[in-house]
Amino acid sequence: MQQTFEIIISGQVQGVGFRPFVYSLAKHFQLHGSVCNNKDGVLIHINTTEENAKEFLEQLLKKAPEISIVQSKSISEIPFKEHENFKIIPSVTKHKINIPLTPDFVICESCKDEIRNPDNRRFGYAFTTCTNCGPRYAVTTQFPFERANTTISKFEMCLKCEEEYNNPEDRRFHSQTNSCRDCGIKLQLVDKDGRELNDTQSKVLKKAASLISNGAILAVKNTNGYLLCCDANNKESIQRLREKKQRPSKPFALLYPSVERVKNDFKLSAPEEKALTSAIGPIVILNPKVNIPHLAQESIAPNLAQLGIMLPSTALLTLLMDELKTPIIATSGNIHGSPIISKKNGAIEKLYGVADYFLHQNLEISFPQDDSVVRFVGEHQLTLRRSRGLAPNYISESTLNVEKVLAMGSHLKSTVTFTPNSQTYVSPYLGNLDSYAVSERYRESIAQYTALLKTKPKVILADKHPQYQSTIIGIEYIEEFDASLRLIQHHKAHFASVLGEHGLFKSEDKILGVVWDGTGLGEDNAIWGGEFFSYYNHEMKRINHFEYADWIAADKMAKEPRLSLLSMLPDSEKHISKPKFSETEWKVYQRMLENNKLKTSSVGRLFDAVASLLLDIKTTTYEGEAAMLLENEASSYHGEECIDFLSKLSYQNIPTKKILQQIHLAIEEGVSKTRIANSFIHTLAAVIIKIAVQNKFNIIACSGGVFQNSVLVEKLLQMAEKKGIELKLNRILSSNDENISLGQLWYHQHIKN
Ligand SMILES: [Zn+2]
Ligand SMILES: [Zn+2]
Repeated sequence: MQQTFEIIISGQVQGVGFRPFVYSLAKHFQLHGSVCNNKDGVLIHINTTEENAKEFLEQLLKKAPEISIVQSKSISEIPFKEHENFKIIPSVTKHKINIPLTPDFVICESCKDEIRNPDNRRFGYAFTTCTNCGPRYAVTTQFPFERANTTISKFEMCLKCEEEYNNPEDRRFHSQTNSCRDCGIKLQLVDKDGRELNDTQSKVLKKAASLISNGAILAVKNTNGYLLCCDANNKESIQRLREKKQRPSKPFALLYPSVERVKNDFKLSAPEEKALTSAIGPIVILNPKVNIPHLAQESIAPNLAQLGIMLPSTALLTLLMDELKTPIIATSGNIHGSPIISKKNGAIEKLYGVADYFLHQNLEISFPQDDSVVRFVGEHQLTLRRSRGLAPNYISESTLNVEKVLAMGSHLKSTVTFTPNSQTYVSPYLGNLDSYAVSERYRESIAQYTALLKTKPKVILADKHPQYQSTIIGIEYIEEFDASLRLIQHHKAHFASVLGEHGLFKSEDKILGVVWDGTGLGEDNAIWGGEFFSYYNHEMKRINHFEYADWIAADKMAKEPRLSLLSMLPDSEKHISKPKFSETEWKVYQRMLENNKLKTSSVGRLFDAVASLLLDIKTTTYEGEAAMLLENEASSYHGEECIDFLSKLSYQNIPTKKILQQIHLAIEEGVSKTRIANSFIHTLAAVIIKIAVQNKFNIIACSGGVFQNSVLVEKLLQMAEKKGIELKLNRILSSNDENISLGQLWYHQHIKN
């Protein structure tokens, strides 16, 4: 007997070709009924028998589009309703929206084939997309994901596009971003003074490619924001870009024409290849094979062996790279520390003098995003920057969203987390709030989220540090939203972020939390950063930390590793650092040390101190530079003989000064730099295992920026396995301060003290 069944699917199911997929499956099952998007996700009605309905649901879950993520499903019988055939019907939007925002997807293989096929009507069209690929979050203005609620809606579909859109048999059936050369987005190639280079749309990309080949810096408006591009084998162009971008040595990412070309130049593991070619399409940090002749490697990533590589994420970049056939630099279009630029006027104003030419296009970007960055330690993915393709992502673990909470995150790597409904939205990386422009974008993002999700927060969570911009702005919102405020300690939020990711709040075992980063305000008003916590039954306790050293010269300390060295050397050996200072500087800092009261346990600064001592580094030009150089040195050591600098010592707090003393001794004894660097990291990993064993922890959860160090993670994974200890690291989120906002939320929801 025919009955009517209602199936509700929620998760990442809108804007990913789910309805057309349901339609074709229903046709295959010869079912009558309907499908539409609603507040929970996708709503399906079918007339059939109970057995058939269950079989339909099973197939639906099994064959769901690759880029969809099903969070939950339900099936129930509802009063019988006659359906003549199977239809996709308009969304029901009267209710509050309860579905996740969907990230952007990399161009799919079918679309790539079309833009490369001279017989296809989309041949050479730079904004080709379909239900399986294209921008989503970047173009969203409202919920749910319908054409009218995106910035693409200003382009009216031509008859042919409309036909595809309405044809259930077509791959572009209800593809909200559908367009073609006749009705779609237009490219505009201009010089820096705005003079148009008179080329037809079909020749624009050829021309743009030839400009890059001839040494020009080109600003390209991709669908997530402007990219600055130049030839990766042209030292002069790269140098010019460095000077103009005020980025003397921070490594640049490379855009490669194809995965085959990447394989020629890099050692590519299976997980690395999978990530590189995924629908997320992040920058993946890779190890090059020996000397790549067509890359100015030393200019691209000075003093570093590894390079960040990505493949074209859109039709635009695919076509450009097809013309170029050789790797190019592709770095976020911004000036030192400010957010990625996404508007034509902003690009003209801010990148004037940086770019020689601009490749604009007239699609508006609602949510600009940097490219995401990941790296691998074996199978294990470390997220270095969570942005395009990864955010806003799908968080279902550990959330109990009974209150509307806005978590303000941290200061340096800011993100915000918002729970307007049962979903948890974690924004992409927004940047360093020291920059006025970043803090404007930060406010703007919060305003966009509250508008988009039509909800105001009732609880504001912020870092305990009163000078964090995120905390200051959070306090301003209390009045605006009539909300309450809770301040959460930085490192405890880090710990909560990794506990939450692994669903460990209900763990029967007590858990060792290891949180190492650069800085965060501690509960004793010291600058924490080398912390050990225990977690059990919704309580967190600090159980140990690195020995305190002097915190001098405030923000300068992070930029000048020599200051960390000076501070962390034992008194009797401080003179070792003297050659790194002028006479006057030396006097000033000696006086500072004498009068200093502020202390730190920062492992980030310990890395700086060791890098300064071992690699003779005085100052750096980008955040984390000293640690990266040290990691680079450590990873070039391939011997078995690591030294544990603390093996013979017993200690309570981790003796920072002893470590430096031992390293200095090893240098004097002529131990190689690579071995010392590797041994230093080995010593740190051994410290963690030692504390776990001594205190009988079977689970270790690590968070904080220091855990982006691949050598440390590799050693820890090995040591923990040997001892039968479970090691938990951030996996969805990055381990750095990008995870603070979600950590704050989880701390608030799960921790009593
Ligand atoms: Zn596609
Ligand atoms: Zn069209």
